[in-house]
Amino acid sequence: MKKEYSHYISETAQELQPSGIRKFFDLAASMKDVISLGVGEPDFVTPWNIREAAILSLEQGYTAYTANPGLLELRQEISNYLRTRFAVNYDPTNQIIVTVGASQAIDLAFRAILNQGDEVLIVEPAFVSYAPLVAIAGGTPVAISTSPANGFKLTAEQLEGAITEKTKAILFCSPNNPTGSTLNKEELKEIAAIVEKHDLIVISDEIYAELTYEETYTSFAAIEGMYERTILINGFSKGFAMTGWRLGMLAAPKEFIEVMLKIFQYTTMCAPTMLQYGALEALKNTFHEVDAMKRSYRMRRNYVVHTLNKIGLDCHTPGGAFYVFPSIKATGLSSEQFAEELLMKEKVAVVPGNVFGESGEGYIRCSYAASMPHLQEAMKRIQKFLESKGIYGEK
Ligand code: PMP
Repeated sequence: MKKEYSHYISETAQELQPSGIRKFFDLAASMKDVISLGVGEPDFVTPWNIREAAILSLEQGYTAYTANPGLLELRQEISNYLRTRFAVNYDPTNQIIVTVGASQAIDLAFRAILNQGDEVLIVEPAFVSYAPLVAIAGGTPVAISTSPANGFKLTAEQLEGAITEKTKAILFCSPNNPTGSTLNKEELKEIAAIVEKHDLIVISDEIYAELTYEETYTSFAAIEGMYERTILINGFSKGFAMTGWRLGMLAAPKEFIEVMLKIFQYTTMCAPTMLQYGALEALKNTFHEVDAMKRSYRMRRNYVVHTLNKIGLDCHTPGGAFYVFPSIKATGLSSEQFAEELLMKEKVAVVPGNVFGESGEGYIRCSYAASMPHLQEAMKRIQKFLESKGIYGEK
């Protein structure tokens, strides 16, 4: 090479920061006896009938490409699923794409709608991929910080206050990663009114839709007037315990799908065929298992929220997903310091809240998708850590 490597690398790629989550987990992975409440994935293995369907498809020799947007049968089943579960109608022939995870669906959505410099509002604390994906697509991510006083929910006023003439879209995620907060129908309607007034596109990340514990889930696309302007993202990773399968879905007006499909056919061609057969089985025959997993998460959420509050960390009760987001402000430590010291001293891995945006500072994310014995041991270790900081709980 004639010059430094940086000379050959795009400026956009150089400016991307590595994920703050990974950094921690590489460290945790190198240590012994660590209890991890860090990773954002179910602790269940994918239900057997789903695995078996994928194996069977291989045995039957289904090893060729499928249609670009995915097996028609699977798209039909996705269409059924979205209609029966969330009351939204999408035509399987031209309004659905089976993607490589919700991650790719989000990437496609940004690539399809953004011109250089378009602003995308991101409701923070937020999943770490959003802002980098906006930047990769040439847009400018703009954070809207939500407040714990309001349960980390986006309000219509906050949204309106963040809109400029460059704002093209808003992305939000309910139930949210990392806070677990969910927006109900009334709250979504208030947001919808602002979206309509300012003519925005909405990217609605509904990957945790299956995992809501008290309220019935409302899809943003089901709110009056929003269907035409919503790109709906969902997937198999969380609700069906299929993170490693890398299967997600996009549903949107056909004009958006057409563009996203153009990009997808060049970058990806189609999602893996044998895995699509597994997904088909997931949607046909797995809801009793999804419900059982959900009951189990709910029970563990209740235990963790109750215990954290008892031992001295303020923690609101999240309505969905499998995360809690307690405040660690009482310790006087920053999120990073807390996570690092807790890992080093007590061998519990959590994610510092600041990696999800500035408003996450003062919080940590703990996933409760871990076994009860692990959760109990983790709570004991956190209690010991808090006591070493002079915090004795039961305030
Ligand atoms: N959105 C959110 C909010 C997530 O938490 C995740 C996974 N952590 C994803 C999208 C990506 O999911 P997938 O595995 O389907 O790519």
